[in-house]
Amino acid sequence: MVRPDIPDADAVSAALSPATREALAGDFPLLIDGRFVEAASGRHGTTSDPATGRDLARFAMGAAEDIDRAVAAAARAFEGPWSRIGNFGRARLLRRLAELLEANARTLAEIEVLDNGMPLILAEMITRGNVELLNYYAGWAERIEGTTTSPPERILAEGDALTYTLREPVGVVGQIIPWNVPLSMACLKLAPALAAGCTVVLKPAEETPLSAVLLGRLILEAGIPEGVVNIVNGDGAEAGHALVRHPRVSKIAFTGSTEVGKAIARDCADDLKKVSLELGGKSPVIVFPDADIARAIPGVATATFFLQGQNCMAGTRIFVHADIYEELLEGLANHCARMKIGHGLAPGTMIGPLISARQKQRVTGYIEDGKASPARLVAGGNAIEGEGHFVEPTIFADVSPDMRIVREEIFGPVMAVQRFEGDQIDDVVRLANDSVYGLSGSVWTRDLATAHRVAGRVRSGHVSVNCHGAVAANIPFGGYRQSGWGREFGREGMDLYLETKAVTVSL
Ligand code: NAP
Ligand code: MG
Repeated sequence: MVRPDIPDADAVSAALSPATREALAGDFPLLIDGRFVEAASGRHGTTSDPATGRDLARFAMGAAEDIDRAVAAAARAFEGPWSRIGNFGRARLLRRLAELLEANARTLAEIEVLDNGMPLILAEMITRGNVELLNYYAGWAERIEGTTTSPPERILAEGDALTYTLREPVGVVGQIIPWNVPLSMACLKLAPALAAGCTVVLKPAEETPLSAVLLGRLILEAGIPEGVVNIVNGDGAEAGHALVRHPRVSKIAFTGSTEVGKAIARDCADDLKKVSLELGGKSPVIVFPDADIARAIPGVATATFFLQGQNCMAGTRIFVHADIYEELLEGLANHCARMKIGHGLAPGTMIGPLISARQKQRVTGYIEDGKASPARLVAGGNAIEGEGHFVEPTIFADVSPDMRIVREEIFGPVMAVQRFEGDQIDDVVRLANDSVYGLSGSVWTRDLATAHRVAGRVRSGHVSVNCHGAVAANIPFGGYRQSGWGREFGREGMDLYLETKAVTVSL
């Protein structure tokens, strides 16, 4: 049985920077109208370190009344100060926030490790990505522009006319995010909305409330006016639901499970709020016999096990050609055995804990299901006993398309490998597309024609060749089918927060 590397409480504390220790000793209130406040009810929640189960910090738990105050503040800011700051002014504020994020990167990364469990090396990489993202959307604020045209003659009896378009912010936006990459989710939601000129009420996930509050402090320090960004931690069914139902909110942007996404879409239908959804996935990874196996082994392992499989773009259905099937499996199993499991702050950790005891139990349930099926267990297969929520990276081979471990999103470190034969791509593409999801996917081959043909035919919003899940500020990301509505990142990320108005002038 594997033993994760978990330093004791003193060693964890000693590994933290003084600024992080100070942040943890402070409060984690709500941010409403430019002020840090307690919840109207006075309620608090407690968040814990998933690697140890130990309590980390207490945070204010908002509910409907707090959402109401936050939406009112966002509405005032939208009509008032924020509407008077131009595109270049908003860009300057976003760049200032990016600088502050960079200056506080160490603390933000450490808080992310403690609250979420991710390895420090990933938290640092992700924090750098957020700096990039804020600067990138600052650039789009400066590039908001419309078009001009002339209407057809039949529209106007006489004379010339001119039509131009304006791009206007949607209004007050409600944003609801999950716990798997908390700070990135917050930045990815806020940056394009602020660039577009919207004001925001953000509801972070209850499991990971801390980094958003620290981000809120930097937002005020950057000089973003009061009420433009409001951050209300709280329960999804209460605070989240109140935000979705609020009549003064013009749009909801949600990332999370497909199940909650569907409920939100139904709720938004009543008053036809705009809604964008980034939901679950069960993405295919297709390895052809001519692939560079030495690259494919770590690449495929990372596709599944990055963030312990707690990421929506995880490649968890692996299709491997018969000619290289056993060789790749052996390589993957060896790779798993070498990945160090432990606390995110322990040196060399690549696999951290799952977010909660509940998630550990859920993932273990799927592993037991796999063990009871005719699939062959090739690596892992156990939850790790002890205080943290650790599960071994697990590989099942010889799976078939009808198995639960192949059909359902597990959101944990579980890979399901199946064999394909022959040199026609049709059959394997059909298998790859046999899913209700369509978020990501990858194809591994040295043949250019195979790579592009398969990339063109996989039904998902994001396909990589000889790598997996290349997500960045300028690369649009989002789902086909039940993986969601709309695209985030890139230019398309701005479209979620802008309305187009056509103005026709008879000259
Ligand atoms: P979740 O249960 O859907 O929760 C996501 C967020 O929604 C949380 O803030 C949650 O609040 C809130 N919420 C729950 N019920 C709500 C309701 N009725 N009304 C409004 N808000 C509500 O998802 P999760 O378990 O935290 O995250 C895992 C899922 O997210 C996976 O399925 C994964 O695929 C998906 N995901 C997708 C992407 C993507 O970009 N496509 C990225 C990351 C994750 P609480 O904090 O109280 O739970
Ligand atoms: Mg936590």
